[in-house]
Amino acid sequence: MKKELRSCTACGEPISDKFLLDVGGCSWHSACLRCCICHTPLDHQPSCFLRERQIYCKTDYAKTFGTKCVRCSRTISAT
Ligand SMILES: [Zn+2]
Ligand SMILES: [Zn+2]
Repeated sequence: MKKELRSCTACGEPISDKFLLDVGGCSWHSACLRCCICHTPLDHQPSCFLRERQIYCKTDYAKTFGTKCVRCSRTISAT
C-alpha cells in the first residue's frame, strides 16, 4: 500500500516524517508550527493552542480568547 505524505495545514506542502508534527489532529511542518500572532516557533514549546486551523502560543491564545477585565482589559486567568 502506497503511503501518502500528509500535507501541512499551514503551507499545504507535503511533509516528510522527519518534520511532521501532529497537533490537534492536523499535520504541520515543524518549521510551520508558529504562533499566528507573534510568530514564535512552537515546535519545542510544551503547549500550543489550535483554533480554526490557526496556531497560537499560550500567551496569545489567552489574550485573544481569554476573558478580559472590562475595566483594565487585562486577561483574567481562571484559577
Ligand atoms: Zn508547512
Ligand atoms: Zn504568540
